[in-house]
Amino acid sequence: MNEIIDGKKFSQTIRTKVKNYVDVIKERHGVTPGLAVILVGEDPASQVYVRNKGKQTLEVGMNSYEHKLEASTSSDVLLNLIEKLNKDVNVHGVLCQLPLPDHLNEKEVINSIDPKKDVDGFHISNVGLLNTGQKSMIPCTPLGCLLLLKDRLGDLSGKNAVIIGRSNIVGKPMANLLLQENCTVTIAHSRTENIETICAQADIIVAAVGRPEMIKKEWVKPGATVIDVGINRVTKNIDGDEKTTLVGDVCFTDMAGLVAGVTPVPGGVGPMTIACLLANTVTACYRSQDLSDPEFT
Ligand code: NDP
Repeated sequence: MNEIIDGKKFSQTIRTKVKNYVDVIKERHGVTPGLAVILVGEDPASQVYVRNKGKQTLEVGMNSYEHKLEASTSSDVLLNLIEKLNKDVNVHGVLCQLPLPDHLNEKEVINSIDPKKDVDGFHISNVGLLNTGQKSMIPCTPLGCLLLLKDRLGDLSGKNAVIIGRSNIVGKPMANLLLQENCTVTIAHSRTENIETICAQADIIVAAVGRPEMIKKEWVKPGATVIDVGINRVTKNIDGDEKTTLVGDVCFTDMAGLVAGVTPVPGGVGPMTIACLLANTVTACYRSQDLSDPEFT
């Protein structure tokens, strides 16, 4: 399929740009961007994410600080650590890996991070700034989707965009970003009626649902561009063997010969998310030195 939007390849372009910005700020200003990642507990998926984040942070020449805390860590201990990291001049980005154990208040923890260091873009100040079109930290996954769309389509102005999913971390910020690009934006969710008809009018579909292969060919207008955020673990019969594999929210095989572009799962939005975390960290570092924002579009 030549319609494939290769997020893995494009994320390398972003990481190369990040590395160049890191080299410049190190050489000219003697500052090394630093990212602190906090992991509470031993959720296996979170451990993999944190490991990958640390590895890629080092690869672009930044400092990586990992803080692994017991699942039973108290709120006070966690908040004290965040306070320490907020004050640490060597740390430009602070991220607390979600989900947190049930006894910790996710909102309180996120809002205790200095908004200037909130490289996940989840702090309520950053949400407000983004919603009102002001300079903010933009959540990594929607930022990654936007960069892929702009790279593929150029100017998005006037396009009809349908986002499926209204979560705070993907759907809502994605809608705001596309509004800022002058798209006409519809957000669909589990209560949306005639969702298939709504999607079939879209020039751009961003699927962030968490339902394996929900979006079939009937949902998609010929020539549309489809960004698949979903990551779903399913069991499939591959060459006679039952195997666990990853699929998106979009039925990928249905898109062949139909769309102008579609992101695969894996290898689409996923790699862009970590690349954008690195981009946000270098941006936070540049802002801490009163320098202009790095450019990633
Ligand atoms: P949430 O579960 O927070 O949100 C899912 C959204 O989908 C909700 O708004 C829900 O509607 C909507 N929804 C559920 N069922 C339907 C349906 N049948 N029809 C229409 N809408 C529906 O998920 P996230 O936003 O956190 O993540 C979405 C997917 O993206 C997941 O698969 C997740 O793993 C993946 N993801 C991938 C990332 C990456 O880096 N590639 C990063 C983040 C997430 P309602 O609000 O009405 O319940």
